[in-house]
Amino acid sequence: MADPRRRAATAAIHTRRAATPARPVSSPIFQSTAFAAASADALARVAVEVATPDFYTRHGNPNHAELADAVATLERAEAGLVFGSGMGALTTTVLSLVGSGQHIVAQRSMYGGTLSLVQKLLPRFGVEYTLVDQADTGAWAEAITPATRVLLIESPSNPRLEITDLRAVAELARARGIVTVADNTFATPVNQRPVEAGIDLVWHSATKYLAGHSDASAGVVVGRAELIETIWNTALNVGAVLGPIDAWLVTRGIRTLDLRVGRHNATAVALAEHLRKHPAVKVVHYPGLPSHPSHALAARQMTGFGGVLSIELRGDRATAVRTIERLELFQLSASLGSVESLVVHPASMWGAMLTEEQMSAAGVQPGLVRLACGLEDAADLIDDLDRALEGA
Ligand SMILES: *Cc1c(COP(=O)(O)O)cnc(C)c1O
Repeated sequence: MADPRRRAATAAIHTRRAATPARPVSSPIFQSTAFAAASADALARVAVEVATPDFYTRHGNPNHAELADAVATLERAEAGLVFGSGMGALTTTVLSLVGSGQHIVAQRSMYGGTLSLVQKLLPRFGVEYTLVDQADTGAWAEAITPATRVLLIESPSNPRLEITDLRAVAELARARGIVTVADNTFATPVNQRPVEAGIDLVWHSATKYLAGHSDASAGVVVGRAELIETIWNTALNVGAVLGPIDAWLVTRGIRTLDLRVGRHNATAVALAEHLRKHPAVKVVHYPGLPSHPSHALAARQMTGFGGVLSIELRGDRATAVRTIERLELFQLSASLGSVESLVVHPASMWGAMLTEEQMSAAGVQPGLVRLACGLEDAADLIDDLDRALEGA
């Protein structure tokens, strides 16, 4: 018991803190913004330690350390850093690597937030860019200039599931001292490990498959320790801090990642095979289908093809919207990677972020529908799609 002579205001603050049992099977949530040190020297030491869990939560937290370690381990990377969102991870990473007068090469088709960072925000700070067809390795080589510092890669890409040759693009960059940054959100480390293909930094919207239950917003980047230290220094300025509870939720999600992704993969294959033969569907974009233009490459660099597919419907925008609104199990929602199946109409959703011209360059056609398979029974999802497509 604390000193009983203390007055109420003091006593309320200075009672005994719960001791941490030596080895709880599930880690506690360290809902603490700061950590106390034994001496002024010790505090000064941890203040400059990269992602230390012993100083201040914007610098690091035990739940951050646990999550960063889990993702780095799965991605076979040296170190990792976590953020309050995927965009927090990307923006902090890119700001730590480029400056005014320098140049980025990105894909013309990739996550809308990534394109908006490259096309809208960075040019205001003097960072130039070139967008390329990701499937054309020659185009990547041609786009590189002496000012290029970063290549932004996403494979499979959103929303058309196009594939980048990770090994070839990593080699191009390495030879010129350029940093490669790959978004591995769609694949997850269960299906693809870009670090093994020579990619320098791999990032995730952990909000999606890593968390897996539509209940936590988080981001993570992993790579060589020296690069992670560079990003951490910028992270202190950007302050896209991950809440300890959300870090804990994502770590819990990761414990079942392999099981979940296995099921997502199998369901997406079943849906792709079914929809491929449906008369209302013009084309199915899914790297697991032999008809996908980069299927052979995808099969070389991935061990599974993920839970997202997109389809182009015969008919116009109104047909696509009507079909989506008739679905019952697929909820109309912007996210993916969760236990629930979700669907979006990219042409409507991206309208806010990109111009018509940018959307058409990114391959977002009016009849395009993106399906993110959840963990429901595949036969029920197929029934739902058939019902919605009837008369489309
Ligand atoms: C959702 C998503 C992002 C952005 O992540 P947030 O956690 O929403 O910031 C980035 N890349 C891909 C592929 C995504 O699906």
